[in-house]
Amino acid sequence: MSERFDVVVAGAGTAGAYVSYLLAKAGFKVALLESKSGNEIGVKTCGDGLGLHHVERLSRHLTPNPKVFQNKIEGVELISPDERTRLTIKGEGYVLDRFAWGKWLVEEAVNAGATLYEGHTATAPLLENGAVVGVKAVERRTGTAKEFRANVVIDSSGSAAVLRTKLIGWPISEPLHPEDVSHAYREIVYVEEPIENPQYIKIYLDMLVAPGGYWWVFPRSSSLLNVGLGI
Ligand SMILES: Cc1cc2nc3c(=O)[nH]c(=O)nc-3n(C[C@H](O)[C@H](O)[C@H](O)COP(=O)(O)OP(=O)(O)OC[C@H]3O[C@@H](n4cnc5c(N)ncnc54)[C@H](O)[C@@H]3O)c2cc1C
Repeated sequence: MSERFDVVVAGAGTAGAYVSYLLAKAGFKVALLESKSGNEIGVKTCGDGLGLHHVERLSRHLTPNPKVFQNKIEGVELISPDERTRLTIKGEGYVLDRFAWGKWLVEEAVNAGATLYEGHTATAPLLENGAVVGVKAVERRTGTAKEFRANVVIDSSGSAAVLRTKLIGWPISEPLHPEDVSHAYREIVYVEEPIENPQYIKIYLDMLVAPGGYWWVFPRSSSLLNVGLGI
């Protein structure tokens, strides 16, 4: 099966969903492929913090959804290993409901006219005469192989970089280097005792807990916290 589009976008994370929204709104015929099934879209291990300048830029094109922007932030607290020294850096932003953010951006793309193919894994660029003319994909549920043809292909599959890394010999095919990879774990937790200064995201530097990285508390409110660790 082969379908023709102006643009095929592989990966419906923040980058893919937003570019699909902008292109569809501008009148282009867009296919947005996402490996996750529909109910998983928006799931992402992330600190969920977003600087105000990004929100302002986004607001030029989209009306921010109040359900997404949960806690207005005034800055960052950097906390020393013994937790006695706290360096406060001012800077506005928001802590998001990341799941709602991901769903919202994809919904906006679809409402603008993009066609979402959820549960579709892009496997390789479709090449003809040395040019990329589309994307090969597999529908996960049925195992059906498909081709999506387009004038433009966007690889927005994040660190997977599933299309560009297959363009061997092209200047964009460089793989992710091991030293650029980190490991992260995150939970969204309720605490009975509200935390102090919930308008500041907190970064804890501690080589025992998070060697080579840090652990964080990004408050969605004084009692709903995004707590994570990246090493
Ligand atoms: C632990 C951690 C904390 C972070 N904290 C913050 C923060 O607080 N603030 C901030 O701004 N940034 C933060 N980031 C960075 C932020 O998460 C990324 O910059 C952002 O998610 C990148 O978006 P993206 O759309 O490029 O990629 P992704 O979000 O990775 O989206 C890629 C999408 O492509 C899909 N996909 C992958 N392979 C395929 C395939 N073969 N076919 C189809 N679909 C595919 C994936 O399922 C996914 O939906 C954090 C990152 C990590 C890991």
